[in-house]
Amino acid sequence: MFVGKRALVVLAHPEHTSFNYGMKEAAVEALEKDGWEVTVSDLYTMKFNPLVSRDDITEKILDPENFKYGPESMNAWKEGRLSEDIVKEQKKLEAADLVIFQYPMFWFGLPAMLKGWFDRVLTQGFAYTLSSMFDNGPFKNKKAVLSFTTGGLESMYSPIGINGDVNVLLWPIQRGILNFCGFQVLEPQINFSIAHTPPEKRSLLLEAWQARLSKIMEEKPISFAANEDFDLSFAGGFVLKKEVLENNSSKKYGLTVGQHAGKALPPDNQVKAGSTRL
Ligand code: FAD
Repeated sequence: MFVGKRALVVLAHPEHTSFNYGMKEAAVEALEKDGWEVTVSDLYTMKFNPLVSRDDITEKILDPENFKYGPESMNAWKEGRLSEDIVKEQKKLEAADLVIFQYPMFWFGLPAMLKGWFDRVLTQGFAYTLSSMFDNGPFKNKKAVLSFTTGGLESMYSPIGINGDVNVLLWPIQRGILNFCGFQVLEPQINFSIAHTPPEKRSLLLEAWQARLSKIMEEKPISFAANEDFDLSFAGGFVLKKEVLENNSSKKYGLTVGQHAGKALPPDNQVKAGSTRL
């Protein structure tokens, strides 16, 4: 039994009768049974505001004539002047060892509600800086997992499927948001075509999720290219170092979905741990 850990579940589904809500309930039940302290951000029930705006900055705007959200929100974060709803979510995130994002796939990506949570909560300074990102990001000791449902069948999300390889769809979220802020990204929990899954299979999916959660902190994260693999300078263009490319040159696949160097994508790079360095 894993004791003394804290989890945050961020749920982005408007209906409490949905399978996504059921996944959230299953996660809370399983984690609490194992001694976790669990906090839930049920974004629709909270009526979370997903829109970035000047209202996120309280007291004073540094440059009202030429307002720029990035620097203004970073400065407000440093001075404790972000709006209360953002601060509340940042505190929950700061306290968590594990963060579960539970949502239905919308338009090959995230519901706007969850995208807005990322936009507003992951403030520069709090979630990343130019010198602290990817494997050196502020959340490098935290684990995150995407748990989502789709309308489409699993085969539609294969490398020959009509919707295209799910690994490609996951890259912007897992690399561009989660790993960018330092999170160790665990394999996603994907429930394909949930509305066309028979009830008895749906119950098994909930049980499988609970079984996975009982050992989730033992899992290896998905591997990404390391910061040290890149020339991290403006002069060098932040591209893979020559020696890394040379090491990869005789290999069949590129390094990752993003750093493919014009080669075939490494299979299951974003859905299976440890599939990068083939
Ligand atoms: P539900 O329909 O709520 O649930 C499925 C079934 O599970 C229902 O029969 C429900 O009664 C049952 N259920 C609920 N709770 C439980 C429980 N606890 N135990 C057992 N059964 C339960 N799909 C794609 O594939 N790609 C896209 O790009 C895409 N874009 C979309 C964009 C929009 C704007 C919208 C609205 C939908 C889109 N979809 C897309 C479809 C969407 O991803 C699915 O509708 C969604 O994933 C289904 O999840 P749900 O939780 O709403 O399922």
